[in-house]
Amino acid sequence: MQKRLSKIEYIDGILKGDRVILSRAITLIESQLNTDRVLSQEVLEAILPHTGNSLRIGITGVPGVGKSTFIETFGKFLTSQQKKIAVLTVDPSSQITKGSILGDKTRMDELSNDPFAYIRPSPAGSSLGGVAFKTRESILLCEAAGFEIIIVETVGVGQSETYIHGMVDFFLLLMLGGAGDELQGIKRGIMEMADGIVITKADSGNEAKANLAKVEYENALHLYPRSASGWYAEVLLCSALEKNGIHETWNLIQKHQQQLTENGFFQQNRKRQTLDWMFQFIRQTLEENFYQNPSVANKLDAVKQAVESGKILPIQGALDLLYGN
Ligand code: GDP
Repeated sequence: MQKRLSKIEYIDGILKGDRVILSRAITLIESQLNTDRVLSQEVLEAILPHTGNSLRIGITGVPGVGKSTFIETFGKFLTSQQKKIAVLTVDPSSQITKGSILGDKTRMDELSNDPFAYIRPSPAGSSLGGVAFKTRESILLCEAAGFEIIIVETVGVGQSETYIHGMVDFFLLLMLGGAGDELQGIKRGIMEMADGIVITKADSGNEAKANLAKVEYENALHLYPRSASGWYAEVLLCSALEKNGIHETWNLIQKHQQQLTENGFFQQNRKRQTLDWMFQFIRQTLEENFYQNPSVANKLDAVKQAVESGKILPIQGALDLLYGN
């Protein structure tokens, strides 16, 4: 086992941009041990003044849409401009299978070897909500370590997109052109959250389908009300393999950042996100404490049975568990 680092060693290492220490600090915040929790909170508090300076970009899309290929090309484009980027993943599959749709090591080969990039796969094993908290904290650690652009990637198949949307400045949805089903299982709500949509694989004879999809998505987006920030989501075409549309995507993200900084929504959004984080944590902690309470745990099965069999109303069951009525 590795020697435990001291609080000062963590803090100094992170602020110096030492990747090995950054990785160990992320492992520390992912740990479930109580002693590690205390230490990680102290480290986070100490680095807090050095956070918040990055641009946080969320990227989502169904498996196979081309997320890792896009992030590799987009990431290389950014690092070629000397920008330091970190890629974090939130992987809803890792909780169920303990495997990972996103975390395998073969993804983003070039970027993983790029001195300007840092890639960290999702932790496995805890609840998606728990992973999302760790990702928020990892963002702060990466910012303190000097990363200027943080990309948070997730698979667009469930709830993880909503978590990601709550922790980034720009939310990018990747979609396929000509894949039959117009919305490809991406829920309406996800499209509504998007600040930009990129149609992937617009190459190899697929251009016409991609163009058609662009028009379809533009039409679909027009049905949504304009967001409070005044931003209209735009649809772009991209080929990560041929490196087309990458520059345009970056321009769109920058335009968004500029517009929302000018009208104050960038900071307002950040403030709202930090408050949401606090309230989410309160909700989660209350719930955990509630179910761990022995008097609740002891009678939970009996109350569940009574509700299932229709002997008592669900509300009665809840009140019984909450207040012992
Ligand atoms: P992910 O599951 O969303 O991360 O998707 P991947 O990045 O692994 O890509 C899925 C498949 O699509 C792979 O076989 C890629 O080579 C292919 N792919 C990704 N981007 C492009 C692209 O721009 N053009 C073409 N033609 N294929 C692509």
